[in-house]
Amino acid sequence: MADFVVVGAGIAGLRAAIGLAEAGHVLVITKEQLGESNTQYAQGGIAVALGGEEDVSLHLEDTVNAGDGLVNREAAKVLVQEGPRRVEELLAWGTRFDRENGKLMFTREGAHSRNRILHAHGDATGAEIGRSLLAHARSIKSITLMEWTMCVDLLVEGDEVLGLTVLDRSGNLQTICARAVLLASGGAGQVYSDTTNPAVASGDGIAMAYRAGAEISDMEFYQFHPTALGLPGVPRFLLSEALRGEGAYLRNAKGERFMERYHPLLELAPRDVVARAITQEGIGPNRETLPVYLDMRHVKGIDLHQRFPGISGFLSKYGLELGRDLIPVRPAAHYLMGGVRTDVHGRASLKRLYAAGEAACTGVHGANRLASNSLLEGLVFGARAAEAMSEEPDPAAPEILDVPLPAGKLTNTGDLLQRLQQTMWQKAGLLRDAAGLNDAVSVLRQIQEQTPEGKNRASLELRNLHTVAELIVKSALAREESRGAHYRNDFPQKDDSHFQKHSIVSRARDSVEFSLF
Ligand SMILES: Cc1cc2nc3c(=O)[nH]c(=O)nc-3n(C[C@H](O)[C@H](O)[C@H](O)COP(=O)(O)OP(=O)(O)OC[C@H]3O[C@@H](n4cnc5c(N)ncnc54)[C@H](O)[C@@H]3O)c2cc1C
Repeated sequence: MADFVVVGAGIAGLRAAIGLAEAGHVLVITKEQLGESNTQYAQGGIAVALGGEEDVSLHLEDTVNAGDGLVNREAAKVLVQEGPRRVEELLAWGTRFDRENGKLMFTREGAHSRNRILHAHGDATGAEIGRSLLAHARSIKSITLMEWTMCVDLLVEGDEVLGLTVLDRSGNLQTICARAVLLASGGAGQVYSDTTNPAVASGDGIAMAYRAGAEISDMEFYQFHPTALGLPGVPRFLLSEALRGEGAYLRNAKGERFMERYHPLLELAPRDVVARAITQEGIGPNRETLPVYLDMRHVKGIDLHQRFPGISGFLSKYGLELGRDLIPVRPAAHYLMGGVRTDVHGRASLKRLYAAGEAACTGVHGANRLASNSLLEGLVFGARAAEAMSEEPDPAAPEILDVPLPAGKLTNTGDLLQRLQQTMWQKAGLLRDAAGLNDAVSVLRQIQEQTPEGKNRASLELRNLHTVAELIVKSALAREESRGAHYRNDFPQKDDSHFQKHSIVSRARDSVEFSLF
């Protein structure tokens, strides 16, 4: 029984739940154990302008510039102006950001004009924020946290969301009705073979919203982080941008620094520029793969183990050491700018449906997210969505009904998933063109024909990733220009006259529409 259902227990879901708790009973549902989310793995930090008005307006300009002509200025203003208050709240709830002589420490990341990134335990910012939010949420009686439960589909009548179905930890399908539902289900990195995201990031909320008829926006904009660990057979562990913020260089196979050929900001250029530069430097004259390295051997006056304990620990498992070794890097899918289209109060295009955090698209990141703005986004828009949801009129009494599990084939979905992920990486990744995207369309069609109907987590996730993949490919085909994180070899220029707009897709529309927010 719940007044409000929150799908996801990352930064957006937990912050929203805390805000909603005064208005009624909140059920927070999460697919795995609490803490397994993109939030948990966020390393570098949270961007916030704590230095007064000038700092706020510079943060706004940096956000707008990173978004390459597509940032929704209203949403970005909300982000930078309300950010400081939301971070003060975190401090009051016990988040322990790193300090020096009692003062908060700020670092810098790519495309920020100032040092404004707070971090915790060196490189474990998300885990620390998640810890403190969870502790606070647990202390509130009207919040129930439900683990190992997968939300499957929204219940819709006309254009109104009444609740959702979930697959509980025993494999039973249940119906939960609610006054309002918040999708805070995070990103969809699992749509690509190379990603920094954990397994839970399968775009479920976006696919659920699409199936229910909601509008989805900007799906062609997937940010590829330039520097994930590039060791074969090893997960694409993130090597935070903060390493470059602390002075790391990028070097090609010949040992040369190469970023001066690509951007005046060198290693701190926008992520899409750095990611494409690394991709280019990583292709040899005979199309062979060449290594590209991150180099901190020259960085003095900073204890790299102490500053980056998580990264140092992970690298040491593979015999690598920051400051001693060249670290092989390659790009990986990292952050989805697109998602469920919402206004600045988290309202989606269906009644009683809300979205916040990485699952949502307010247009705040435009075509490319400014580093460390997404944790802040989760806080600010999670809190805003909670305020708006609290205003929803009282529902009929919410109920949980047992629904029999439909019989489905428990087919092995692993091969299909791998094919989908590799196709997306090769055909709809960093460098795109119409031929490759059309190839992806045909492969996705074949995968759909072979996808089993089973109502188990693996097949439900495959279905969701398939939907997300289709939305990415469809939107990328329609955007015949290059902008931010979306790069078309066949349309390498930006075309403001046609495309300085957000893409919108929904089940009701045949084609992708472009519109202002
Ligand atoms: C390695 C890494 C490093 C990063 N570093 C930074 C950084 O330094 N700074 C920064 O600002 N951002 C960073 N990001 C991005 C940032 O972490 C995310 O954008 C942000 O945490 C997303 O928060 P969220 O609450 O929207 O979603 P998440 O934190 O991903 O939470 C999603 C939640 O939804 C649940 N869920 C998903 N589907 C279902 C379902 N069907 N049913 C039930 N539950 C479901 C998940 O279990 C999870 O609890 C990083 C991301 C990664 C992966």
